[in-house]
Amino acid sequence: MTQHALAHWQALSEGLRPEGRAFINGRYCEAVSGEHFASHNPATGAHLADVASCDKQDASLAVAHARTALPHWAGLAPAERKRLLLRFAEMVERHAEELALLETLDMGKPIANSLNVDLPAAARCLRWNAEAIDKVYGEIAPTASSSLGLVTREPLGVVAAIVPWNFPLMMACWKIAPALAAGNTVILKPSEKSPLSALRLAALAHEAGLPAGVLQVLPGYGHTVGKALASHMDVNALAFTGSTGVGKLLTQYAGESNLKRTFMECGGKSANIVFADAGNLDFVAQQAAQAIFYNQGEVCIAGSRLLVENSIKDQLVERIVHHAAAWQPGNPLDPASAMGAIVDATQLDGIAGHVAAALKQGARLRTGGEPVNINGGLYFAPTVFDNVTNNMALAREEVFGPVLAVIGFDSADEAVAIANDSPYGLAAAVWTQNLDRALTTARRLESGQVFVNNYAGGDMTVPFGGYKQSGNGRDKSLHSLAEYSQLKTTWIEFGAG
Ligand code: NAD
Repeated sequence: MTQHALAHWQALSEGLRPEGRAFINGRYCEAVSGEHFASHNPATGAHLADVASCDKQDASLAVAHARTALPHWAGLAPAERKRLLLRFAEMVERHAEELALLETLDMGKPIANSLNVDLPAAARCLRWNAEAIDKVYGEIAPTASSSLGLVTREPLGVVAAIVPWNFPLMMACWKIAPALAAGNTVILKPSEKSPLSALRLAALAHEAGLPAGVLQVLPGYGHTVGKALASHMDVNALAFTGSTGVGKLLTQYAGESNLKRTFMECGGKSANIVFADAGNLDFVAQQAAQAIFYNQGEVCIAGSRLLVENSIKDQLVERIVHHAAAWQPGNPLDPASAMGAIVDATQLDGIAGHVAAALKQGARLRTGGEPVNINGGLYFAPTVFDNVTNNMALAREEVFGPVLAVIGFDSADEAVAIANDSPYGLAAAVWTQNLDRALTTARRLESGQVFVNNYAGGDMTVPFGGYKQSGNGRDKSLHSLAEYSQLKTTWIEFGAG
């Protein structure tokens, strides 16, 4: 992708008029109540759009349209859904700059990341699922010759996708791509903190040829429209990415309503484990810094607990502090900025609160620790705490900001015990040149993904999801595609009667 200068993005943003209305049944419309909320750029405080504040009434409307659209969409040949979804992916690619800009303006991430990471990943996800769907077969059961047991896959029906603000488009596509490919109709509820790219996405899908009602987008708050979708008797499945607390609530709503299927992708407090034989310590330090500072630390799999063998801890921390300097926040529209703005003042205050608590509990601050003032925007310095123990709040709670907790260990057993002593189990990493140690440690970690000698590696071919309270769903790969369908058995007897 091309790398434009700051002036290019500033000029583009001046001409941008983001759409804030809901997208229901193939067109933009105001919320039934007429209510709005304002969307602001966290880097400048500038007003971006008035966003429709959808609620129960809009949810009911959208569900009715999604249900009407379902038989046609579900009945299309998979190759036809593939054709339309590939056109949709193409539209996303064609509008990559605009979508990347909306993402950056709305939630503060650096434009270089929006354009070069999030957008290609979103389009790739659409393409991958589209390409896969006409290659998935049903089964014939191994029965006696007098019977035929057919095992076929059918769509779940109407899927509600409720997503967070840290990777708005990417998280949305991880849900909508497999759900649509599998023949479901989808209602997407973006976070109230980042609705703009999803609203643009809906129109692009429509332009690509997806029929009205197949993909609808309802912006609004969790406790209003989010709850309404999760509790709706005519929504068949709920695909969620967000915090563990809200994930638990949604599971409850599903149980209290129609027992809709729920796929939960929740929070994390991932352990990045570095053994003394990790090899090039400077490289490991640079990767450890990236693992916590990328996307302002607003990453579910952020390597927020760095577990280091005590014999190399001081050396490694020294180098991480050095690399942290490269992550000073800056204007998100400047392609040279490695870290951007924090999504909103509530999140910034939360990060500052975690830092204050860590200081109070005796962790040693090595660098950062405070907000950074750049033209009144919301920024936080890359922060490293040493001498953290696993019982401190900083090691147990998700900060969702650029704050690293360093914990020492003396043996592999101790490292595994610390890593697993967490309610979360989303990701972990192991750094060692010893293959035996890498694999035995990886096996013992209670985590949905383990990275060996890298952090956050993976692509569309592998599932992504959590153990324990990090969730129970899987995004990406054929495993995710399979989640969006249900199995039907048709048993046929020959020669009966
Ligand atoms: P959040 O749980 O506050 O909100 C997520 C979504 O749920 C938003 O759209 C929100 O409006 C909605 N919501 C909130 N309350 C609701 C309710 N009562 N009923 C229905 N919907 C409701 O999370 P967030 O702050 O947007 O995102 C950060 C969290 O997401 C972190 O915990 C992070 O780890 C997690 N996350 C997980 C993954 C993963 O794949 N496991 C990926 C990205 C982010």
